[in-house]
Amino acid sequence: MIAERLDQFMARANAIYYASHDPFSDFTTAPEVSQVFGELLGLWAGIAWNLLGRPDPVLLVEAGPGRGTLMADALRAIGRAQPDFAAAAQVHLIETSSRLRAAQAQRLKQAVWHNTLEDVPHGPMILLANEFLDALPIRQFVRRGAGWTERYVGDGAWVEEPVEPPALPAMAHVLEGKVVEVNEPARAFIAGVASRLRRNRGAALFIDYGAEAGVPADTLQAIADGKPVNPLSPPGSADLTAHVDFADLAHAARTAGANVQGPVTQRHFLLHLGLRERTERLAETAKEDQAASLRNGLLRLTAPDQMGTLFKALALTSPHCPTLPGFADG
Ligand code: SAH
Repeated sequence: MIAERLDQFMARANAIYYASHDPFSDFTTAPEVSQVFGELLGLWAGIAWNLLGRPDPVLLVEAGPGRGTLMADALRAIGRAQPDFAAAAQVHLIETSSRLRAAQAQRLKQAVWHNTLEDVPHGPMILLANEFLDALPIRQFVRRGAGWTERYVGDGAWVEEPVEPPALPAMAHVLEGKVVEVNEPARAFIAGVASRLRRNRGAALFIDYGAEAGVPADTLQAIADGKPVNPLSPPGSADLTAHVDFADLAHAARTAGANVQGPVTQRHFLLHLGLRERTERLAETAKEDQAASLRNGLLRLTAPDQMGTLFKALALTSPHCPTLPGFADG
């Protein structure tokens, strides 16, 4: 068998995985933890829309919408709190998995689907993406002597090929045998969003896990049946993700002409948006088990030893956009 470069292996493995599994039986994401997550993101989008001068129509875009839970919760909150934003918003979803598109269609009847950002029409836009960038395929380089190798996968084992890697900021002080990663599709996606925001009013919110500044490390991880497994398990048997390098993506966004706010921790972001107050208000009138699940969700999303600090929020905006909710004092 011919060895496959890691990003090609990861893209192929995830395409099989998302086509053949219900990924949410293997892992849980923030919108599946608490309905308040999507509701707050919807209200965030509405405030951003107001601060941007209420463009009408406006594209409300989500990248990698999973089961459609985030967007459904967001639209419910928007419909109640900001009917004028609801009337102006046209929902567009970027999703490659036909299986997940079918799940999304159950909940989001009015949406239009696309395979890539390039297919989304141009115009003023608010874009949301939770745990999207971490699913995009990475390349890994290993320090060997004075040079570098790149990691390939052949027959379920690592193969290293000597390579002249692209210049990466993390490479300067890397020790022998250590790994440096680059997520080229994430950079390209961010640059594509940024160049749209340079031309049309808008804002984009990315929530994902990873370090604020790239610490060189092997962050590739595989989850199957809710447990970590070897990333080189047969393609399609596990969900493959990697940490997001927020500094690298912020740089890509600025280079392409967007303004950047954050990153701030998910804890900071959600608590400033009122996650605690909204959770308590719902819990007060909910049944006992539902109230417990809402309060447990608050803890999972914000506790530093759970999703609170590993997860970060990063906003890209068109030039001259005021500070968006959740990004002050961050
Ligand atoms: N945002 C959701 C789902 C996260 S899982 C949530 O928070 O629950 C990652 C999502 O991105 C899935 O919907 C997956 O099908 C989608 N995805 C992965 N790679 C993609 C790509 N290259 N283009 C578009 N969507 C992709």
